[in-house]
Amino acid sequence: MSRLILATRNAGKIAELKVILTEADLGHELVGAESYPDIPDVKETGVTFAENALLKAHALARATGLPAVADDSGLSVDVLGGSPGIFSARWAGRHGDDQANLDLLLAQLSDIADPHRGAHFTCAAALALPDGTERVVEGRLRGTLRFEPAGTHGFGYDPILQPDGETRTCAELTPDEKNAISHRGKAFRALVPVVRELLA
Ligand code: IMP
Repeated sequence: MSRLILATRNAGKIAELKVILTEADLGHELVGAESYPDIPDVKETGVTFAENALLKAHALARATGLPAVADDSGLSVDVLGGSPGIFSARWAGRHGDDQANLDLLLAQLSDIADPHRGAHFTCAAALALPDGTERVVEGRLRGTLRFEPAGTHGFGYDPILQPDGETRTCAELTPDEKNAISHRGKAFRALVPVVRELLA
């Protein structure tokens, strides 16, 4: 069976994506980037989620000679003009410090009342082939930011985003409930027909 490589070493993301792509029965074996440990990390020099997802997918496709899938995601807050956006993972300065990022954002928004606390997660999902062919799709999850974190599931800003139509935060949803409505779930489900078309 031919291989399709996923450009992430994050075990949670790989598991999430495998569920979606396996359900789609694409006829390709899905492998995480951890199977190719010598591949260098890619600098995320793009200024949009889509650009960064494509950069990662192209780099991996070039390095492995395999079709590659990559994603890039983040939180955009209305009253901050779309920030943290592509800087979501390092909003407080250090890459991947989820607690510091969340604390800083809550402090910045402490005087902002409910009607103005709208925000959304975005995920761009990209497919690149070794010959340079590329496609990118996006998914969004819209909601409101709480004043206090709630819930223990998920990661990042999940404890403060309450999706529209929900009474719970993303961190209070089960993983399956979140996948069903999440930006990442939407983006990867939208990528399935694209993979099918290009890899048929
Ligand atoms: P990346 O796409 O893994 O680089 O994620 C960028 C950052 O966006 C993460 O570190 C989180 O801070 C935030 N983020 C992206 N997706 C989610 C999500 O589903 N829940 C919470 N935070 C997220």
